[in-house]
This record gives sequence, C-alpha cells and structure tokens, in this order.
Amino acid sequence: MENVLIVGAGPVGLMLACELGLAGLRPIVLEKRPEPSELPRANGLGGQIIDFLDHRGLLERFSAGSPFAGRAPGFPFGSVPLRFADDMPLRLLMIQQPRMEALLAERAAELGAEIRRGYEVRSLAQDPDGVTIDGTLRARYVVGCDGGRSPVRDLAGIGFPGTTDDEVLRLGHFAADVGIFESLEVDGLEPGWNRTPRGRLLLTSLQQGVLVAGVREKGEPLDGPVTLEDFRAAVRRVAGRDLPLGAPIWLSSTVSQARLAERYRAGRVFLAGDAAHLFPAGGSALNVGMTDAANLGWKLAAVLAGRAPDGLLDTYESERRPVAERALMQTRAQAVLDRVEGEDGAALRRLLTEVFAFEQPARHLAGLLHDSGVRYGQADHPLVGRFAPDLRLADGRRLAELMRAGRPVLLDLRGDTTPDGALTEAGGRTDAARTGDRADAAQDGGWIQVVRARADDPPADALLIRPDGYVAWAGAEGIEDAAGRLTASPA
Ligand SMILES: Cc1cc2nc3c(=O)[nH]c(=O)nc-3n(C[C@H](O)[C@H](O)[C@H](O)COP(=O)(O)OP(=O)(O)OC[C@H]3O[C@@H](n4cnc5c(N)ncnc54)[C@H](O)[C@@H]3O)c2cc1C
Repeated sequence: MENVLIVGAGPVGLMLACELGLAGLRPIVLEKRPEPSELPRANGLGGQIIDFLDHRGLLERFSAGSPFAGRAPGFPFGSVPLRFADDMPLRLLMIQQPRMEALLAERAAELGAEIRRGYEVRSLAQDPDGVTIDGTLRARYVVGCDGGRSPVRDLAGIGFPGTTDDEVLRLGHFAADVGIFESLEVDGLEPGWNRTPRGRLLLTSLQQGVLVAGVREKGEPLDGPVTLEDFRAAVRRVAGRDLPLGAPIWLSSTVSQARLAERYRAGRVFLAGDAAHLFPAGGSALNVGMTDAANLGWKLAAVLAGRAPDGLLDTYESERRPVAERALMQTRAQAVLDRVEGEDGAALRRLLTEVFAFEQPARHLAGLLHDSGVRYGQADHPLVGRFAPDLRLADGRRLAELMRAGRPVLLDLRGDTTPDGALTEAGGRTDAARTGDRADAAQDGGWIQVVRARADDPPADALLIRPDGYVAWAGAEGIEDAAGRLTASPA
C-alpha cells in the first residue's frame, strides 16, 4: 500500500509532492493529462507562498528570468488602485503557470516523487485502513488536488456550494510587437482594463512580444473552445470596433466562480487548492492553494511516521478553511467592485480610491492579500500562530535558510554557545545534538532541529517553528516539550 496518492499535477499537487518528498515519503501523483499543460493561466504568485518558497530554497529558481519579483508597489483591488509602502507585507513574483509547474515537477522528481501522467482517476472507495483508487491502487491517504471540477471531491461526497458569475471572460495571447507591460496603441483605449457600456476590455503584455487581450461581457460559459472569429466578435461587441490583435497563440474562456468545499476532509481523503476553493477575482488562488499544500504536507508526513496521532490531520481544515473564507470574502468584494457599472460604480470606485490612499486601509488590505490575516489558534505571544518573521541571526544565517530541510526548528535565542543539534522524537536532545554533529543527529531520528543563536532584538527567548513556517510556540520555559506541542491533536 502506498502512503499518499495525490490526484492532479497542477501547482498544488506538485507542491504537496515536493513537501512529502522532502519529508522522506515517495508520493505518487496521478495526472490525467499525458503532457504538462501549456495553458496560460496564472501570470504570477503573490503573498505568503513566496516566503514559503524562500524557506524551501526555491525562490531563486522561480525568480530567474521573472519580469518582476519583490515587494508589491501596489495592487488593482477590484480595479481600484492600491499603493503599498515598503514595509507592507505583500510580495509578488511574476511567473507563467506552465513554467511554475515545470519547476515544481522538476523539484518533486528530485525529491523522489513519481508523476504518472495520462492516468485519469475514475473511482474511489474508502475502508478503515486506506483508500482504493480504480479498484487497483491503494494508499493510506488520498489528496484531491484535481482542480475546480475535482472528481475526487465528488467521489468523496463533499459538496461545493457557491455562486457562478453571469459574465464570461475570453482571454487571448497574440504575437504582437509589444514590450512587457506595454499595450497596442489604439485611440481611446488604455493599457490595462477599459470599460465600455457593453463590458470590459483588457490590453496588456506580460512577456516580450505577446499581447494579452481579454474581453469580459455578460454571458454563459462557452460550450466549446474559443475560435478567433468568436474572439473578434466579442471584441467588436464590447469595444465597438475591430482591433489589430496579431496572430493568436492561445484563446480560452472562463467564468468566475466563488465556492468553498463543505469539508476539506472525508475520512482518509483530503482536498487542496482549487478542489477546495474557487475565488472570483485574481491574485489569491495559488497563494491559498499552495499554502494549503504546505500545511497538509508536514502533517501527513508526521502522522505516517508515527510522530503524531491522526487527529493532527483535522487541524488542516481548522487552520486552512478560515484562510479560504477570508480570501473568498475579499475576492467577492473585488469582483463586485470591478463589475458594478454606471455612475454608481464610478462613485464607489472613486470613493474607495480616496480611502485606499490612507495608510491603514492599504496596510490592512496588503495583509489580507498576503495571508488572509488569519492566525492559527490563540496564544499569549503575538508570533504564535503566525508565519515566522525572517529573522537574521548574528552569525549571518537567515531563518529561511534553516527551514530548507522541511523539519521543525527550535530556535534558541538565549545566546547559549552550545552547538546546533536535534531533538529526539520524545523531546530529549540526541547525543549527536549534544556533540553538535548535525548529520548524525538527522540519521538517528532527531526530527526537530535545535538552533542556538544570537539575534539583535530577539522577539522571544526561543521560538518553535513548524515545517510550514508557522510559529508553534514562543517563550523560554518548557523547551523540552517541543515535540509534543507540534504534533498534538486539537482538544
Ligand atoms: C485565466 C486564468 C488566470 C489565472 N490567473 C491567476 C493568477 O494570476 N494568480 C493565481 O493565483 N491564480 C490564477 N488563476 C487560478 C490558477 O490557475 C488556479 O488556482 C490553479 O491552477 C489551481 O491549481 P490546482 O493545482 O489546485 O488545480 P489545477 O491547476 O486545475 O490542476 C488540477 C490538475 O488535476 C488534473 N485532474 C483533474 N481531474 C483528474 C482526474 N480525474 N485524474 C487525474 N488528474 C486529474 C488536471 O488535469 C489538472 O492538471 C488563473 C486561472 C485562470 C483560468
């Protein structure tokens, strides 16, 4: 029997495969497409997932060749411009989804995951010991990372309530003589979104030589693929004229949905990413979906290794669902802000443009876009339940660098000079830890890395950081109970 079968090799399934591989498991990813998808969907990542990629040492790979990677100077919040100061949290990384998936697949393979392409999951049955897929494959756990239409969600009997937009968006990529962030020069049309009485028209470029055109108008989801003639007719309806778009590279259509799975878990089956939530406006789907994978990955590995009871897996839903609820709230608000037409819409957007120019609203929205502002659990110390700040230690190391191995880190900042080491699963220090031999400590089962260091202005005497980067505990007393604190089931 396999430990974990992941259904879907999109960004979320591949991220989960990386996490499980890093934890020493050999997950199998089942993907119905025979080849990786070249469909241009996301143009980038924003928010906490970027910090997490940094924790895993993947940020350099992802940033290579990116037209923009860094602090977000602003964000079009439902077409109302937001401007961020340098100390506001949101980071952006522009990267096309096919490249992102290729990098994640490469990393997953390096870590020993197997991706079986051309395998479509059709049935699923659970018993107390495991899950059977298509009557032949068995695993202790199955994770549906199989997108918004998720067959796994349906087969597990989990509902997906929500709403479907009454507008259809046609998107096209065209070969054109444009630079990045440039647009066609057409009288009366600006780069970015343009409003007309019949809909909205997008003209922009995110890659040299590729014009991105979008047409949004009232309508039903399309039955078949978008043809060039259909796309041009939509442009004529909305813009009132033909546009010299260039030769089509890709044409697609989509209708936004706002949905949240009734449950994230049914027995031994879990949902992550679009299978669990669909947001009706841009910028949050991959951030929430890929951080779902970061949350679930270490918990599955801990339970399978016998370090934690099965109940730890229930914290996946209790921690992640509130994040998706907040993301749904802000993306629904964005969608309506963007859509509301006429003088009423113009007045609302104008008023909010004025409000967003103040520091506090902009800071609040930067936080909401970054990590939904959700704290996992309650504790006295303000860092507990939050993603750890990127501390720089006196010896030059960054906290992010300590997280590469995907193991918990107990960061002892009391300034002791005892070397770094590891804790045994019972919480005691290993011999190797005492002698500071890190390689031995890892081999003899020490899971928690103990790092003793000094830092300027430390936020606590000690911090216990989970593999997904969240602070599990902060303080001074009771360091020895660290392992127990990480893996306890919720009360
Ligand atoms: C036009 C467009 C633009 C977007 N822009 C952004 C953006 O800028 N930022 C952002 O964060 N998000 C964006 N998104 C959303 C983003 O693309 C999705 O959130 C993301 O792809 C979800 O990843 P996932 O891994 O959960 O699911 P998917 O990427 O949908 O992957 C699911 C995988 O499961 C496979 N699968 C399905 N059924 C089965 C089965 N029965 N057996 C085996 N395999 C199966 C599918 O083939 C697919 O490969 C955009 C989406 C669209 C359509």
